[in-house]
Amino acid sequence: MYAIAIHGGAGGLPRQQLPSEQQRRYHDALAAALDCGYALLEAGGSSLDAVIAAVRLLEDDPLFNAGRGAALTREGIAELDAAVMDGSTLRAGGVAAVRHVKHPIELARRVMEKSRHVLLVGAGAEEFALEEGFELLPNAYFRTAERRAELDLLRSGQHVSELVPAPHGTVGAVARDEHGNLAAATSTGGMGNKRPGRVGDSPVIGAGTYARNGACAVSATGHGEYFMRLVAAYHVCAAVEYRGLGVQEAVRETIHERLAGLGGRGGIIAVDAGGRIALDFNTEGMFRGARDSSGRREIGL
Ligand code: ASP
Repeated sequence: MYAIAIHGGAGGLPRQQLPSEQQRRYHDALAAALDCGYALLEAGGSSLDAVIAAVRLLEDDPLFNAGRGAALTREGIAELDAAVMDGSTLRAGGVAAVRHVKHPIELARRVMEKSRHVLLVGAGAEEFALEEGFELLPNAYFRTAERRAELDLLRSGQHVSELVPAPHGTVGAVARDEHGNLAAATSTGGMGNKRPGRVGDSPVIGAGTYARNGACAVSATGHGEYFMRLVAAYHVCAAVEYRGLGVQEAVRETIHERLAGLGGRGGIIAVDAGGRIALDFNTEGMFRGARDSSGRREIGL
């Protein structure tokens, strides 16, 4: 059994309030990323390649808060965070607060594979990107008019309107390949109107991203500070591994008891060693998709 699940962020407005044209755009973008990752698994590719490919596509799409179209700091700059973890080796790589890297998830993978480190931030991460031959782009590439409008609303203390259906919009993917290897990847612009230098849960291994063969692979989205305090992604894996919970129960408990108990909001996707998928959230919605080799294929907003 091979399987992949993706998310495009949790939060936002109820689906009924999204104009149908917007719903279609989100649906199509999620389907493209899901199918791209799935095609790699189907061809015998690794879960690591599948999650990177799916996240990379979503980073390119300005609809989502990752790569181009990232949420902006209170100073109007895009600062991007991403991480990847290989459940078969427990190797992991992350980058945080990068401003010029087109595909932060690719840089996170490079940190995992080519540096002696797990997490590189800011100028040091970009120096590494240059050394590794990554093309660096002006920050303006990432900033869209929609995110600028969102920032203006957030700064004036108003709620984000239908202009921006998903105030979060982080992207992530988890997969199990035919060899039973698990992998997780997450990429984000973080919270809109954040302080420069703020780093959320996504690039922090164990908080927003985690994978361990035999347990599960996890990617989170939502109010990162809460996920960090709970070490939420690792919590899901630990609940599966040490308490024997099913992956759906482990995710349910983490979201609806632990996260909600602290007052946090968000969602989690996970896949376990048997290819079972969990997708859960305590926000109005979560952009999500799931596909596996038993024939399941679904997209949800
Ligand atoms: N979890 C991300 C962060 O706090 C935001 C999100 O998921 O939308 O940086």
